[in-house]
Parts: sequence; structure tokens; C-alpha cells
Amino acid sequence: MSSAVKRNILLTPGPVTTTESVKWSQVVPDICPREAEFGEIMEHISTELTRLVAEPDHYQTVLFGGSGTAAVESMISSVPGNEAMIIVNNGAYGKRMCEIAEVYGIDYLEFRSPLDDAINMDALEKCIQSSDRMISHLAVVHHETTTGLLNRVKDIGLLCKKYHIDMMVDAMSSFAAIPVQMKEMNISFLASSSNKNLQGMPGVSFVIAEKSKLDHLKDKKPRNYYLNLYAQYQYFAENAQMRFTPPVQTLYALRQAIQELKQEGMAQRYERYKASWKTLISGLKRLGLTYLVPEEHHSKIITSIHEPHGGYDFQSMHDYFYSKGIMIYPGKLEGLKTFRIANIGDITSKDIEVFLELLENYLSSI
Ligand SMILES: *Cc1c(COP(=O)(O)O)cnc(C)c1O
Repeated sequence: MSSAVKRNILLTPGPVTTTESVKWSQVVPDICPREAEFGEIMEHISTELTRLVAEPDHYQTVLFGGSGTAAVESMISSVPGNEAMIIVNNGAYGKRMCEIAEVYGIDYLEFRSPLDDAINMDALEKCIQSSDRMISHLAVVHHETTTGLLNRVKDIGLLCKKYHIDMMVDAMSSFAAIPVQMKEMNISFLASSSNKNLQGMPGVSFVIAEKSKLDHLKDKKPRNYYLNLYAQYQYFAENAQMRFTPPVQTLYALRQAIQELKQEGMAQRYERYKASWKTLISGLKRLGLTYLVPEEHHSKIITSIHEPHGGYDFQSMHDYFYSKGIMIYPGKLEGLKTFRIANIGDITSKDIEVFLELLENYLSSI
């Protein structure tokens, strides 16, 4: 390993602070990604990713070059047929799925739910029952990264099972920390990416799906080209290659990141995140700051914090932290004055303590 790379503390919800070893794992000899050696690396990565949430005999990870939205767009645009789908919108990422469905002309019903409270299951069931269109699919975000709200995917899965609806989950910011079992939770399709809880580099996104559901897409007329889920699945199965140039170095980093996740253990990773969150919350309390989502529905991964009063300006606070090697994130919800702090990546409570100390300095300076 060469000399150390400067370590910044990213309190953003991805990309996150990575380990030194993940950073250096990208420095490798050049390779043509259509060589069998690279195919084996991608097959290994796919299987390991599947194993985190399902049984690889019956489920498959389909890798794409692209940010997380590519995987969500692939799923939404490739899977539904001519029947309608329900999209749960309780934050910016639920809204994004509606926007994707809109662009592709997919028949969808938007189910709106409060930003800071659990989804009302009775209301959702009524929405399914009262639809004059046949509902074949439902899409929901597992963890709304805009607020920190953790959606009740297991309950929604039960509802989907009752009505023979295939569920698609945007698990971007829950995957690899918050436990998910696709079969038990009745999730047919799940999307995530390399740069959040996996603690890899940005550039790889993926859809994990039941193989039988993927096979079922074979005869569908495609709506898309690059992001076609069936084509990407089928081509990889035959050739152990992505259809188009993959982000080679990002995949090496992902392989290393998966190895480090296995060393740490997924449950232990979430425990580390939760410990950082507890430190964050008690510090906020001490400073008189409050946050949006109540603890019982909170992911403990990202926190949407109400802006302090008087003299506060996000950009100046951001610049102050940036000069200290810490990156923070603005709020993403119209009409809500918040900023966001994520506690994922290769960071610990110690880093959060450093952040809190600086936050105290900043607040007393305004
Ligand atoms: C990060 C994220 C995405 C994808 O964002 P990209 O910028 O495309 O990587 C999608 N959904 C959720 C819930 C996310 O947290």
C-alpha cells in the first residue's frame, strides 16, 4: 500500500468516507473488462451482494454502470406491463420514482404519505382496493434518505402478497446495514448502489431480483435500452460481462468493500452506525437542536435536523465544516428548513464528537 490518502469525514448520505484499503484497491493493472478474469470478479460481486438479502440459487444481482438512480430507473421502466402500479411517495426519493414512471408513460397511482410518520397501512390497502385499474406492482423506498424515515417494508410486503402485487423496493440507503430478507419480506425487485452502506466507490448500481421474475420479462417489449433489466441480466448470464463498459476500478473497490463488510459483519456495521447516531442525537439535544422524524420510525442512518434560529446560513456553515475536512448536506424537502447529517461510511462516534464540537463553535459564532 502506498502513502496515506487524506481522510475527509463525509457526513453525507453517500458517497461516504471509505477505508484506506478500499481507496487503494482501485489501483490495479489495466484489464479489458471482457476478459474472463474480470467476469469472475463480477460474478463473485453479484453473488456476494445477493447473499446479503436472498438465496443466490433463486435470486440474482444485475449490475449496471451508473449511480443509484440508474438501478431504480431500470426497475421502474423494465418491470411493469400494461397494468397499473402504486408508488409510495413520502419524500424526495418516492417522488423521484413517480417522475421516472411519468417519463416512461407508466400507468401509476401515487400514494402520498406524511414525511415524518409511518405509512398508514389501512389507507394503503384502501388505495389498492378502490383502484379501478388492476394493480400489478408497488414501489416503495425502504429508507427515505431525505428525512431518515424507515418505511414499513415488511408490512407492505404482506399487503402485496395478499393482493398478488409484485413489490419493488428502493433500498439504496438501507442495503448492507438495515436487515432485509427479500423472500420473507415479499420483495421481488430491490435496487441499491456501491457507495452508501457498502462503503465502496460511486459508479455501480444494481437490481436484485427473483430469477423467475426476471425470466418472465423475456417477451416484454422494451421501453428502454441501456437500462433494460432483462437484457442486462440475460447478457451477463451468457457472457459474464456487462453489456456495456463497466466502471472497472469501482468494481475492484466494491469487491474490497464487500470483503470488509463481511469482516465487520452487517449487524455489527449497523450497530456501529447506531452508536454514532446516539452520539449525534445526544449532542444535538445538548445544543438545543431538534430533528424531524421521531426515534421509533427513525433509521438511525441519516438525520434531518431543523435549522437553528437566527444568523444561520447553510452555505456558511457548510464552508466552515468543509475547511475542516468535514462535509455536510443541505435538506432536500421543499418548505422544510432542515439540514442533514448522515452517520454511515468508515466513521465512528469519535468523528461525530469532532463534528459536534465544531458545530458548537459554529453556533456560538453566529
Ligand atoms: C442515494 C439514493 C438514490 C440514488 O441516488 P444517486 O445520486 O443516483 O446515487 C436513490 N434512492 C435513495 C433512497 C437514495 O438514498
